[in-house]
Amino acid sequence: MAPPSQYVLPNDLPVALLDCEEAFSLLSSEEKLYTHFMSRASFYGGLIVLFQTSPESPAIYILLNRIFRAQKPSALHEVALAQGLTEDEFQALLVYAAGFFANMGNYKSFGDTKFVPNVSKDKLEKLLRASDAFAKDPEGIESLWKIVEEHMYSLEPRERQLGLGDQGISTYFSGNCTIEDAKLIQSFLDSKNLSAYNTRLFKNQDEGGRTKYEVRLASVTKEGTADKSSDLSSLLGSFEFEGHEIVVTRGDYSALLLRVRENLEKAKAYASNDNQRKMLEEYGRSFQEGSIQAHKEGSKHWVQDKGPIVESYIGFIESYRDPFGSRGEFEGFVAVVNKLVSARFAQLVSAAESLVASLPWPSPYEKDAFLRPDFTSLDVVTFSGSGIPAGINIPNYDDIRQSVGFKNVSLGNVLSVGSITQREKLTFLSEEDKDVFIEYRGPSFEVQVGLHELLGHGSGKLFVQDTKGGFNFDKDHVINPETGELVKSWYKPGETWDGKFSTIASSYEECRAECVGLYLCVNEEVLRIFGHESQEAQDVLYVNWLNMVRAGLMGLEFYTPETGRWRQAHMQARFVILRVLLEAGENFVTLTQKVGSDGRPDVQVTLDRSKIMSVGRPAIQKFLQRLQVYKSTADVDRAREMYDGYSKVTDSKPYEFLTLRDIVILRKEERKSFVQINTRLTGAAVEALRYDSSPSGLIQSVIERFPDDEEELESLMLAMSCADAHFWGKECSR
Ligand code: ZN
Repeated sequence: MAPPSQYVLPNDLPVALLDCEEAFSLLSSEEKLYTHFMSRASFYGGLIVLFQTSPESPAIYILLNRIFRAQKPSALHEVALAQGLTEDEFQALLVYAAGFFANMGNYKSFGDTKFVPNVSKDKLEKLLRASDAFAKDPEGIESLWKIVEEHMYSLEPRERQLGLGDQGISTYFSGNCTIEDAKLIQSFLDSKNLSAYNTRLFKNQDEGGRTKYEVRLASVTKEGTADKSSDLSSLLGSFEFEGHEIVVTRGDYSALLLRVRENLEKAKAYASNDNQRKMLEEYGRSFQEGSIQAHKEGSKHWVQDKGPIVESYIGFIESYRDPFGSRGEFEGFVAVVNKLVSARFAQLVSAAESLVASLPWPSPYEKDAFLRPDFTSLDVVTFSGSGIPAGINIPNYDDIRQSVGFKNVSLGNVLSVGSITQREKLTFLSEEDKDVFIEYRGPSFEVQVGLHELLGHGSGKLFVQDTKGGFNFDKDHVINPETGELVKSWYKPGETWDGKFSTIASSYEECRAECVGLYLCVNEEVLRIFGHESQEAQDVLYVNWLNMVRAGLMGLEFYTPETGRWRQAHMQARFVILRVLLEAGENFVTLTQKVGSDGRPDVQVTLDRSKIMSVGRPAIQKFLQRLQVYKSTADVDRAREMYDGYSKVTDSKPYEFLTLRDIVILRKEERKSFVQINTRLTGAAVEALRYDSSPSGLIQSVIERFPDDEEELESLMLAMSCADAHFWGKECSR
């Protein structure tokens, strides 16, 4: 019997290459070496996530590596067909392996539900026994299969999702821990001022049947005591707490963290400044000793390393997947500034003055001098962990955020891949739009992002009264172009934009920035800065407008009818823009419901490219002026009336947005899995190895990840996994 569809990955799992070729090729050789060693550190550390996900994940990882290392997917395919697997069943195996590697375990990083292979246990076992991996090491494969076969497939209620106790599976805790245990240990940790970020909790019985807790810190060293000089000196060892025995030990993931530390040391030789060197020293000490205090020190240097060419962060960072919410999942990333894109952005900034002057509001509504907003767009080279976000805002240590600060980073190549997709899966467009869309989606997105971030968020002025009663605008002369009268409202002393516009502030501001992008992307100078001229320039601007209205339609996924609320600021903003352009009339934008080729309901969106300048742009011009004027004059009442009005989702004709929302959800795509490059050191040069955007490409990239020590690494991981197996009631015969 096939498993329920929510617990398998679809055979057409979308897979995309995290493309960083251009950005990587523009790095200096020192920067490439730094990137290489930081990537090595990240990937070694990323293996820890297997141990943080489910008891069976490390062994599944090793088994899949062994199978695909011995035989390429194409060779294994022959074996599979000979063993009676269908094409679909073999594809399901590839998809399972790719999904497993992308999530670093058999639970989805987005939603935390389990996924199992969509090929039966019997057939997979037959294939295994006929594989080259088995021929080379029958006993090894046999014992790995014994360890994983049951739990790889099990969908017992407790195993369907991550959770604590009866609620699910967690390897941050031994299988017998409950929420009460988690609470008790949290108060113990708090009493000692010991962070939970790099810990796991194991509950044992001693010979007398008495409960004994072990708080195990992640560290290279396994020593149970620390030097007087260490911040851990009084925190290790055995303690009595509220009548319980608690022992704090070290050495979790020791073998993996050793490799992380060694690579951080190698990276240090190529660091570009003192902050980076100090940061790497502190991280190294943190992983060596198990000290979160050292990681915090490293994070302070990291925050102070402003705008580096190669950006990275590594450690036990996000606590989303600890059911108790205080233990961090290992994560390591390396991202690089795309020097070509940055150069274009810099040109855009130098042209800012004249571009801003062309925006549709009178000059008093603009700042006296253009201030470049804080914005870094990086391309990810390596991201280890269970998933890859499109942006990050770290560190998570509140005390450092308050006292030293934090960084906000947009991951450009993750964002831009977001909706590039195979032609046959490209939804809601006409056949003739699909080709031009696929060709120019990337370039038009770059133009839109640059305009949105730099001239969108960077433009416009707020009218403010200071505490002494003075004004930052000429109250006796500045006219409100909406009313034709003098400006009558402004921000009083102490009032702010966020405070005043509260619930609509973030979406409203995103909408303003998106409109600036649409409005300015038709400008020839802007298009030339981004390298587009003549017909290509026309296509880039057309795709930018078309993409906006398609995104507006797809935004409906992020609206909840039950509460009448939008859950995503950018998507609400794009829906509002779609409404404005529909309202412009003249069949400039159309939405047509139809029956798809699969017999299910569908919808098609079109935008008439011959009317962008005559219909579309005037509509955006008018709307953008209103957005800015209400914002400048603190006129939250008019702003809310307009913005909430456009945000309303009803089923009234002609558009029937609630019906369209059902169609959008029916046709939404599975989240993408990313293929990452590997870096290789040959002599003194670092090269980047690329792979196909397919499940096979993803598998290949993972099995080529540790060419120097893969076998040693796997036997270390197997030993780690077996040493703890009994905590989840499992046996491990090796
Ligand atoms: Zn924005």
